[in-house]
Amino acid sequence: MALSVCPKCENHNFEMVEVEPENWRFKIMFVQCTSCGTVVGTMDYFNLSTLIHELEEKVEIIETKLEDIEYEIGKIKNNKK
Ligand SMILES: [Zn+2]
Repeated sequence: MALSVCPKCENHNFEMVEVEPENWRFKIMFVQCTSCGTVVGTMDYFNLSTLIHELEEKVEIIETKLEDIEYEIGKIKNNKK
């Protein structure tokens, strides 16, 4: 695997830094050189795959509750016949 290199100072170490850019209401993460601070990449502040996984779990809970409601409605309908 090739070693990552800062394009400005040729340092090999990078760090994540939380940033709130002006005119932007969301935090983002900069991937920057630990030596000179040159930004070589950006990432969302929130880890999207984690958020998607959390949403998936919530959707599964809602689906289960909807199935319970459908079941109860079915019982009510059968009682009316
Ligand atoms: Zn650098």
